Amino acid sequence: MLTELSFLGACNQVGSSGILVDTRTEKILMDYGLKLQDKPIQYPEEVDIRLNSVLLTHAHLDHSGAIPYLFHQGQKCPVIGQEISRPLSKMLWLDSIKIAKMEGEKCKFNNNDVKMAVKKYQAVSYRKPFKIGRVAATSYDAGHIPGSSMFLLEINGKKILYTGDFNTEDTRLIAGCDWNIPEPDVLITESTYGGKEHPDREQEERKFIQLVKDTLANDGVMIVSSFAIARSQEALLILDSYGIKSPVYIDGMTQKATEIISNYPHLQKEYNSVNNAITRMGVKFVEHPAQRKKIIKNPCVVVTTSGMLSGGAVVYYLKKLHGREDCSLALTGFQVPDTEGDRLLKTGRYVHDDVDVRVDMNVEKFDFSAHASDTDLVNFIGKVNAKKVFCIHGDNTKGFAEELRSHGIDAEAPSRGDNYRV
Ligand SMILES: [Zn+2]
Ligand SMILES: [Zn+2]
Repeated sequence: MLTELSFLGACNQVGSSGILVDTRTEKILMDYGLKLQDKPIQYPEEVDIRLNSVLLTHAHLDHSGAIPYLFHQGQKCPVIGQEISRPLSKMLWLDSIKIAKMEGEKCKFNNNDVKMAVKKYQAVSYRKPFKIGRVAATSYDAGHIPGSSMFLLEINGKKILYTGDFNTEDTRLIAGCDWNIPEPDVLITESTYGGKEHPDREQEERKFIQLVKDTLANDGVMIVSSFAIARSQEALLILDSYGIKSPVYIDGMTQKATEIISNYPHLQKEYNSVNNAITRMGVKFVEHPAQRKKIIKNPCVVVTTSGMLSGGAVVYYLKKLHGREDCSLALTGFQVPDTEGDRLLKTGRYVHDDVDVRVDMNVEKFDFSAHASDTDLVNFIGKVNAKKVFCIHGDNTKGFAEELRSHGIDAEAPSRGDNYRV
């Protein structure tokens, strides 16, 4: 009997992932995310059948964000993922309710639905198979953020592998993905960097550290804007490994994310590296907004959210420091088009709510990506050696599928709402 795959989102774009696997006896949803930057907030296609299980690859909102909405609609199934993804997702779910409210956007779930999703969460470990009805499932380390997983499903003798987001290369925080995965019949792969390469990581780190050192030497304040999960901790590890000793602060949601990640030392490439770096550098947490005014009176480094300047503690620092040429702002990740960060890079102005200012600080963007590059994607997909490949989660999934076909791989890029029998 054939299994039906339905692509509910993240087709030809990044955001609101969701894949429904229907074996006729089991209905399994892999990821159910949202795109908070869109107005209105973008959700995947609706799920109108009773689910047996939701598999969560990792906590990022584009994969986890709409899971509480399933419970709002009365689903009762377990949510299965790595242990760490539970507190990380909870933090992001509650935050997205707050952000939606602040921006006057409708959020389709509430705090009770988040409570339910947390209650229904079941933790699994890498490489330990588990059953969903007659389906055997196993999670493998995806090397993207702490706890990120790929899922391999075995259904009636057929294997389906879904990568979620993955990285083949080590970062300072975590090791690259597991390569030792049984050959599947069907592969569903992310394609974020399809057609794109990363700059040399070490050079990128050196450029970043140079900016930090120059700023501190000028008695300026160095603001490092990062995503709360993984990127902020990566920034701390880079600062530590280059011996930065100036006062380093962490502010905003970064604090909570750092605490959670520190509680899972075994998921870090070097056991307990985050805690060790924090201790060595004497990193201080900004426990109260009133502290901010005081700390920027002296040269220091502040690692804070949000990664694209669309809210969070970074707004305060930009309001106060935008006119100071001795201060710097490092953007440590991709800036989604039309976000505050993207517009700042293009226009030199920071525009957010009632703020509209020219930014005289040194603003630089760095690529500390946690996604496989084009070469890495092609190598991994070649090694996996599936009979059929579906490309999702990228700005140019069609182009990437074409690239794979030129390597002799049977690949295609589904559109939102497409169904396939495999
Ligand atoms: Zn991700
Ligand atoms: Zn993603």
